[in-house]
Amino acid sequence: MSLLDETHDPARQCWVASAEGHPDFPIQNLPLGVFSPPHGEACGGVAIGDAIFDLRAAAAAAMFSGAAQLAAAAASGPTLNPLMALGKEPRVALRKRLSELLRSDGAERKTVQGLSSRLLHYAADCVIHLPAAIGNYTDFFAGIHHATNASRLFGLGLTPNYKYVPIAYHGRASSLRPSGTSVRRPNGQRILEIGGPPRFGPCQKLDHEFEFGVWIGSGNDLGDPVSISRAADHIFGYCLLNDWSARDVQAWEMQPLGPFLSKNFATTISPWIVTPEALAPFRTAQSVRPKDDPQPLPYLWDDYDQREGALNIELEASLLTPGLKAQRKSPHRLSVANTRELYWTFAQMVAHHTSSGCNLLPGDLFGSGTISGPTSEGCGSMLELTQNGKKPIRVASGESRTYLEDGDEIILRAICRRAGYASIGFGECRGVILPPSRSLSQNVDPV
Ligand code: CA
Repeated sequence: MSLLDETHDPARQCWVASAEGHPDFPIQNLPLGVFSPPHGEACGGVAIGDAIFDLRAAAAAAMFSGAAQLAAAAASGPTLNPLMALGKEPRVALRKRLSELLRSDGAERKTVQGLSSRLLHYAADCVIHLPAAIGNYTDFFAGIHHATNASRLFGLGLTPNYKYVPIAYHGRASSLRPSGTSVRRPNGQRILEIGGPPRFGPCQKLDHEFEFGVWIGSGNDLGDPVSISRAADHIFGYCLLNDWSARDVQAWEMQPLGPFLSKNFATTISPWIVTPEALAPFRTAQSVRPKDDPQPLPYLWDDYDQREGALNIELEASLLTPGLKAQRKSPHRLSVANTRELYWTFAQMVAHHTSSGCNLLPGDLFGSGTISGPTSEGCGSMLELTQNGKKPIRVASGESRTYLEDGDEIILRAICRRAGYASIGFGECRGVILPPSRSLSQNVDPV
């Protein structure tokens, strides 16, 4: 079954000039999101080059029919949840029609281009929102190198269940924000001296975690699990995700029920949803497990998922400090990794999550878990990069870091590359650290 079609043709060009050679959003990508145009209300849109194609305006101009019209109408409101609920076919029809409307040599180019003042907005003039009302957020732990490194640094080993169960915890949906939103350093309980009592105050080990986000499209009924062979059909798309983490708070609070306040204060995502269709050329086989590892249990095993269910996407995290900004220097590259490093496929996450009968809803979001590579260059968090603060990172401004300081900005990016295909990306996932709130300052211990 080929998932490739004319929308992936690398020779296809777009009449929106900035889309040509765009590192993230050429015509082969067409990611979906929600934006407010200048003086307009929030609605669905498609990132194309430096512009946004307005789905509500295009639907009003009768540019779609059939399943594509159903999809465009569902994407005309302030969230994409109605489109997500429709499942795969309308989304595929919308992609094909958008590619036709935006291609340089399309039959309707002149008509569409004539309406471009209504249909296209400069992205820089718009406000980009979260793409959906996120009912539930679940954070997995499927990056095996991160799981191994983090477990060791917290003084634990990889738990015996890790290679059987796609481990996760239920996260906090209310504090998810789109790229560009600042992150306030949390206060919390942490141990300042070994063996001493906890004190309440600003987190001193603020960290990032480079994860991949998975958007759920059509859901399942309560009590009705999704089989592994159908699980991929429930995925609407993907984004980048930074699971900001307060390591000192986490170390004290997480036994025995897992992370709580150390993770719930902010999670940043890239706001454009890259669809499974756009990622079809970048599908790859799931990495073969080492021969001593157990085989997944039958409800998590599907031959096709093993052959095609992983993605080959390069991930890069950078740090921009106040010193680098002041000296107009480039961000410091922290790490390079790849989504192939995940121990479980996205379909396995969906199948496992619903195997209890738990119902997923359109607009639910999963984090993959921090994706680190096998070497020190691949570490997707400061915890791993600095060995929990023991090996500071030095940057070109002369500053050094063990964990993140106020004014630091983390920038996550990703690129999909394959010979014979147009490269596509996700746009940025970035956030600047702000000083802690002073509203509890009378309760804060001096450091
Ligand atoms: Ca995480």
